[in-house]
Amino acid sequence: MTELNLSSGASYFRSPDVAVTAAIKALNAGQTYYGPAEGTAELRQAIVERYQQYGITIRPGQVLVTPGTKQALFNLFSVLLRDGDEVVIPIPAWFGFNELLKYSKGNLVTVPTALEANYSLDMGAVRSKLTAKSRILLLTNPANPTGRIYSKQELETIVALLHDFPDLYLISDEIYDLDTYGEPVTSALGCKGPQERIIVVNGFSKNFAMSGWRIGYMVAPKEIIEQSTDFQSSTFSGVSMFIQEAALATITHKTESLEPMLHVLQEHLRVMQQGLEAIPHVSFFVPDGAYYFFPYLGHYIGTVTTSGATINSTEDLCKYLQNEHKLIVVNGDKFGGSGHVRMSFAVERPILDQAMSRLKEALLQLKPATATIGKL
Ligand code: PMP
Repeated sequence: MTELNLSSGASYFRSPDVAVTAAIKALNAGQTYYGPAEGTAELRQAIVERYQQYGITIRPGQVLVTPGTKQALFNLFSVLLRDGDEVVIPIPAWFGFNELLKYSKGNLVTVPTALEANYSLDMGAVRSKLTAKSRILLLTNPANPTGRIYSKQELETIVALLHDFPDLYLISDEIYDLDTYGEPVTSALGCKGPQERIIVVNGFSKNFAMSGWRIGYMVAPKEIIEQSTDFQSSTFSGVSMFIQEAALATITHKTESLEPMLHVLQEHLRVMQQGLEAIPHVSFFVPDGAYYFFPYLGHYIGTVTTSGATINSTEDLCKYLQNEHKLIVVNGDKFGGSGHVRMSFAVERPILDQAMSRLKEALLQLKPATATIGKL
């Protein structure tokens, strides 16, 4: 049986040809030396223009090019967090935030959201978690793993909280912002509110299938960009010039790079949705963006496999799928969603088709534990 892997955070697409061509051209032209720590003027300007298309006005001095979105986040955590500060994150959320926080000064505070409520953020619950120590409210829009997109109205309600907490910054991680299947994402940068405390991180890994290039950016008030540039200059210098050239070419040819991928993702979303609908007792949110489903498989916890083993946890379920059916998904516990698993549909179509029938077969083989007892 061939292994089917739906666990990757990177899509299967090749990086855009324009990126590869631009990088090779830059290498041949000798762009292999230190560049400015903050990023090239051309790429920063292209990022400014990217937001201008949505009616958002920012200046190049508000942009820092970083070696990946992860580093943009780590940079911000390093610059903003003081001992004992709290970082408030709605969950389910990407496990990478927690991992980064292990190397930063802040402590994680979670705000649960529920599938039954379509993962809406209960503002009362958010407020109840905010204290004088809250330094960062970190949203992901669209979210990994749920694919939930916050509407402009929801975002503005969230941003309004900043007025009541003068030490609090909003960081909106918008790394999947162009991978959407209905309404486009409203950037937090386009929301009314205290602009001096609204920050966006973004990158090229997801929207443009460029995870291995290591390039991202942050958009923030000028003072934060200056502090973050100092941090980056001391720890990393700047992103390689030829990689910035590749990113610039990608943004400049955004539509031709993006549209073929979105077309495939839209179709794959439909296939995964139909596959999940065909399995009894599975509930899920249909993603508005990103490229994952995060179904709830809790019904199958407490069941027994054909070889007599009991599935006691989400971890057991994932191990069963992997060991006995060669199907790899990510345990929802990693995201704060027990009983759920994350499944990427940004995989090749034959893998997706086989994975969905294998998942159904694997789950239907599980028998309720009580049925065995009843027979005794
Ligand atoms: N933020 C989120 C929500 C992600 O899912 C990921 C990658 N899985 C990152 C940031 C990191 O992205 P990058 O490759 O640009 O560092």
